[in-house]
Amino acid sequence: MSDQAAILLVDDREENLLALEAVLEPLGHRLARASSGVGALRELLLHEFACILLDVDMPELDGFETARLIKGRGRSANVPIVFVTALPEDDEQVFEGYAVGAVDYIFKPINPAILRSKVGVFVELWEKNHRLREQELLALERANETRYGQLADAMPQIVWRADVDGKPTYFNRRWFEYTGMTPVEAEAKPWSAVHAEDREDLLAKLAAGEPFEHEFRFRASDGTHRWHLARTAPIRDESDRVESWVGTATDIHDRKRAEEQWSFLLEAGDTLAGSLDYRETLAQVAQLAVGKVADWCTVHVAEGGAVAQVAVAHHDPAQVAFARELQERYPPDPDSPTGPAAVIRTGEAELVRDISDTMIEHAARDQLHLDLLRQLEFASYMCVPLPGRERTLGAITLVSSNPARHYGATDLLLAEELARRAAAAIENAHLYRQAEERAEAARALATIGDGVVLLDRGGLVRVWNPAAARITGLAESEVVGHRVESAIPGWADVAARVPPAGPGERPAVESVPLDLGGREVWLSVSAVGFEDGIVYAFRDLSEERRLETMRQDLVATVSHELRTPLAAIYGAALTLRREDVHLENEMRDTLLRVIAEEAARLGEIVNDLLLASQLDSGKLHVEIEPCDPLEIVRTEIEAASAHAPESVALAIDAPAQVPVVSADAGQLRQVVANLIDNAIKYSPVGGEVTVSLRPDNGSVRLEVSDTGIGIPPEERRRIFEKFYRLDPEMTGGIGGTGLGLYICRELVRRIDGRIWVEGNAPHGSTFVVEIPRSGAVQLTNGQPATAESLG
Ligand code: ADP
Repeated sequence: MSDQAAILLVDDREENLLALEAVLEPLGHRLARASSGVGALRELLLHEFACILLDVDMPELDGFETARLIKGRGRSANVPIVFVTALPEDDEQVFEGYAVGAVDYIFKPINPAILRSKVGVFVELWEKNHRLREQELLALERANETRYGQLADAMPQIVWRADVDGKPTYFNRRWFEYTGMTPVEAEAKPWSAVHAEDREDLLAKLAAGEPFEHEFRFRASDGTHRWHLARTAPIRDESDRVESWVGTATDIHDRKRAEEQWSFLLEAGDTLAGSLDYRETLAQVAQLAVGKVADWCTVHVAEGGAVAQVAVAHHDPAQVAFARELQERYPPDPDSPTGPAAVIRTGEAELVRDISDTMIEHAARDQLHLDLLRQLEFASYMCVPLPGRERTLGAITLVSSNPARHYGATDLLLAEELARRAAAAIENAHLYRQAEERAEAARALATIGDGVVLLDRGGLVRVWNPAAARITGLAESEVVGHRVESAIPGWADVAARVPPAGPGERPAVESVPLDLGGREVWLSVSAVGFEDGIVYAFRDLSEERRLETMRQDLVATVSHELRTPLAAIYGAALTLRREDVHLENEMRDTLLRVIAEEAARLGEIVNDLLLASQLDSGKLHVEIEPCDPLEIVRTEIEAASAHAPESVALAIDAPAQVPVVSADAGQLRQVVANLIDNAIKYSPVGGEVTVSLRPDNGSVRLEVSDTGIGIPPEERRRIFEKFYRLDPEMTGGIGGTGLGLYICRELVRRIDGRIWVEGNAPHGSTFVVEIPRSGAVQLTNGQPATAESLG
């Protein structure tokens, strides 16, 4: 609001305006001009005027019209209007002027003295009004201030005002109540109540001249600091300059503590979840607790009837040594009526809001104990149980040494929550370890070569590992959950022969046959009984047994096979040496022939043994080359026909041209010879033995077919095993080592061929050998494609 009176001059003619200005200038007021009615209205919007001198005769908006609009606006309705007109005094016009709100008329030519005196009156009036308004405003402002002060005093927050430099000018009642300062102190050092660590920041924000919020610690009359939230805003004058500051401070200490406590809980939760070593974890939690919720924290756990301290932490590192010493010298008495031992025993938390020196004196066991307790400065204390699912695992003790920090119900809730989380972490770690051990055991069971079976006390199979399934051929699904006797045929015999050892005893190991419904598996079994059942471990002995049997068979067969020709040779030789008997030449020749033949037979057996052993050890040299199979068959049939009984007819059935095969010629010859020998040998009452050759895709198919005793289908695979004979006792009178077919199979395998046996209807067998063809082209020539009889 301007204190200087202003006059608005309105005329469409410049010379008139100049004239008016010239007349009024000496009055010293501010003069504003407008050259139209519209211009006048604009000026009135922007400024305040003591009076308006308005020309009546103006184009567009004339003076009356303009006056009507001025009066119609609330803001300018009361500004006195003086019409300036050159028109003669016409009653009607003058009347119209007054009707639209004119207060006076000035007629041209203007009399300067009259104009000045009339304007002077209006200015004086305006100035009087103006002063009056200012006084009213001042009174209003004072009343406001009082009301504001009352309001501010009634507020629960702290309210203050400061001048532009931050120097306080007002504090409400709450300020004095809270800080306990006197007005003099408040004026001298108002910010000394702000915590030293937060003060600089607060003053810097104040200097920045912008509204701000700020959390700071504020000292109360009892010397403790509480967190407050300050909201401060600048108050600006009309030209937007900061004039003063008003600020409030709200006590957010409890909220802040709760926030801190929950963030502590979260952090503790993370720490607890992150480790499986519970001692280390508890030590970390104790460390976290100090500073945040306590000055001193200890954790005790119940271990085998005793109470052991597993963690101790103190806000002040220098105090840790005292805390340790206290623990070592004065460990908690398990029967103590208070403290960690009692909390663990009862599962009930303890909370002492204020610890007095008397209480400490009472608790001390001797002078040193008292000194240590005093050194550690107990102000407030709580101890909460670590609640396990089945028992209390331990206790967490939190001590405040700060006389301003007393534990209350909220703190106890926090501590209990912390303890719950810690207990859950301890139990999880324990469960995890157990699960790990189980997983390890399961992994071991899955990979171990020995069969393992666990029976519960009711005889149900609970564990059946992969090795057990492999050895017996019984899948886990067939066995687990079933009664052992019904799931595993023959188990009853095993159980009867293998009594379980007691826990800690050395189990006996028994070799027992397990009859799996027709199939026998030899097992070496041991058993251990335990609280919940019996564990059997077994190993497959079948292979060992097979080798052992084979070794016995070898000795039996070979000695038998050797003994027969040896006996013949020995007998012939003895007869030849006899001097008392005269031997005819013919007889002598026969005996010598027997000796030669039997010696050759012995040689063959020895050769077979040698060959088999070379095949076993992989030492046999094989030289693969293109060979003519027909040529080999012919030679071998010829050789066989020399000693074959007359009752057996030998024949070859081959096309004129047989493809060349890829084989070791000598070894293929031996295969053919063995098969022909067998065909003759196992045709005791005579018959036909035919060797045929047929090209077949990439190979040549050689078949040795007889009409002899035949081989039962279920034995056709096994006869190729080493020492396997259908009639080992030789009830049919046909001897042999059981090595021939084994040698055949191994030799054929080495030239990438195949060998098997098929049955002949109605009698006999056909041994088929598939021999790979050679890349070389060589034709067998000149032989008829039809069968030729040689026997
Ligand atoms: P062996 O020295 O006993 O003849 P082989 O390995 O040659 O040994 O043969 C194994 C077994 O296969 C023989 O003991 C016999 O029972 C059976 N066998 C082999 N060839 C024939 C065949 N052509 N006819 C019937 N049985 C045969």
